[in-house]
Amino acid sequence: MPLRRLALLFSLLLVLLLAVGYLLLRNLVILPYINEEVLATQIQELHSLRFQIQARQAALRLLATDMASDDQVLTYLADPDAAPNQLPLHKSEQLAGLFLYDATLQKRYESVSQGVALPLLAGDQPFRRARLMPLLHPHQPRSRSGVLRQGGEAYHYAAASLCTAMANDCGHGYLLLVHKLGDDFATTLAGSSGLRLSLRLAQAEDEGLPDLMALSDLTRPRQRRSLLLKDVLGQPALVIELEHTAGPPRELSRYEWMALVCMVVLVILVNLLLGHLLVRPMERGVAQIRAMERNQQFRPLRGGATISEFRQLANAFNSLMRMLSQQREKLKQLARTDPLTGLANRRAMEQFLEQEWRRLCRHHRGLAILMVDIDHFKQFNDHYGHGTGDEVLTKVARVLESLTRRGGELACRWGGEEYVMAVTEPTAPALEALARALQQRVHQLEIAAPTLNQRLTISIGIALLEPGQDPVEQGFTLERLMEEADRALYRVKAGGRNNFELWRTQLVAQPPRP
Ligand code: GH3
Ligand code: MG
Ligand code: MG
Repeated sequence: MPLRRLALLFSLLLVLLLAVGYLLLRNLVILPYINEEVLATQIQELHSLRFQIQARQAALRLLATDMASDDQVLTYLADPDAAPNQLPLHKSEQLAGLFLYDATLQKRYESVSQGVALPLLAGDQPFRRARLMPLLHPHQPRSRSGVLRQGGEAYHYAAASLCTAMANDCGHGYLLLVHKLGDDFATTLAGSSGLRLSLRLAQAEDEGLPDLMALSDLTRPRQRRSLLLKDVLGQPALVIELEHTAGPPRELSRYEWMALVCMVVLVILVNLLLGHLLVRPMERGVAQIRAMERNQQFRPLRGGATISEFRQLANAFNSLMRMLSQQREKLKQLARTDPLTGLANRRAMEQFLEQEWRRLCRHHRGLAILMVDIDHFKQFNDHYGHGTGDEVLTKVARVLESLTRRGGELACRWGGEEYVMAVTEPTAPALEALARALQQRVHQLEIAAPTLNQRLTISIGIALLEPGQDPVEQGFTLERLMEEADRALYRVKAGGRNNFELWRTQLVAQPPRP
């Protein structure tokens, strides 16, 4: 799989893992923790709300206790006609009603706002009213308060037993205050608790709602709640619909989405960066190596990579390839060299001749082949031994080498004790001079030939294709030229050796080019 695709796949996998990891972390760790915090806050808010309600009831109870300790109230109770105008029972705007009862809970005084119906408080059933009153017991509070639902409305009420001013003599009767729970109650509650809430009268179906005053088992945070406020007789009085300041987080927030998008963008950017830093240098390197393979030519890898390891890799590759190409050159050289004499070998000569022949066919430069053979070398070998024979072969090779100077000339050991020299752009006099020089230099080596009682000699057969001839047009081949050189040599051998013969082409001269 290509590295680029692998990196992309890896990145996608990474995004997926990160997203799944975050969701797991969110749902298993963060959300439970937040929920716990939110629940604690909500419980706090509910306690505060409960406290607000209790505080209002306590205030009303305080007012009732205060008024119930007024001696004038007792005086009025003893004789209403005697002191009707001295009764300190004012009509507070905040109170919906005020009642005075004697010890048997018979109503003795009533002051009710208009439109307020309180049958339980005003009626003739004192035993029912008894449930609203404080117990007349030395160790019990002298007052009592709560919620009361009457005549389709909900009220706060507070009842206090009538006592003397010093509060050491109670049980003369009861004073009961009623305060209507209207819209202003909801507004003040909302203001003091900081919650958004509304009130409505409870219906029969609200019976199952949790009681605000008896909250104990809140386990889950909820944004909105409906709570029941029961009255003193245990009947559903009011339903408080409230919205908490903080709710449990449900869906992914805008910031979480933004973080997710940022993460994806980041991964894409990292992917691009990886592609730029890792994949591109690799692709470029592979393309360069492929091009080398195609062209069969070594070119050093360009080391433009940012990553130092890639540069090191390119450098290592380059030096390895340099070493290999040097070795290849060496091998090539070895493959073209005769190991004994160090002269070019037959293969090198064949390549040279093919190359020169192609050039010759285009430019008509002419070519000459000199076949050089040591005379009676077998006898020499037999007499002096193979080792000395090898030395002689090398010496003769040096002679040929010393007379091969131009770039268009090559001398090789053709095989055994035979050598070949190729000369481009030759002339017959120059070739004859060359042959003579070869013979002379070999003579100067002063190598004694065993049987003939003279120095070692060489025979040379020369075949000359003169410049200006077009061999292709006339069907003349390189093989033919070689054959002619060989034949010329044979003739020299047959003629007694230590000589040379020049064979030259009998081709028709080409007309000069316009
Ligand atoms: P001719 O004058 O007709 O050329 O006679 P010749 O003896 O030189 O020719 P022939 O072909 O009969 O013998 C060639 C000899 O060259 C045979 C062999 O002993 C010798 N020779 C061939 N290769 C080597 C070599 O690598 N080292 C040595 N020392 N001798 C070689
Ligand atoms: Mg021979
Ligand atoms: Mg020979």
